[in-house]
Amino acid sequence: MDCIHCQNEMITDCKVNVEGGMYGIKISKKGSGLFKNVSAKPKAAVCSSCGYVAFYIDEYKEFSE
Ligand SMILES: [Zn+2]
Repeated sequence: MDCIHCQNEMITDCKVNVEGGMYGIKISKKGSGLFKNVSAKPKAAVCSSCGYVAFYIDEYKEFSE
């Protein structure tokens, strides 16, 4: 995963936490069926060169229709 700003190799697999809380961010999407909702906890990638932070999920394929 390269930084979109400076093409530096980004540090992936960083944990995402909301400051002041025990809970991270959760990304979810309603599916077509009743039990087809998908959700994922995002991870962060950090560029050690310019400080850019990108969020991504491993379960992105489950979000496709
Ligand atoms: Zn960068």
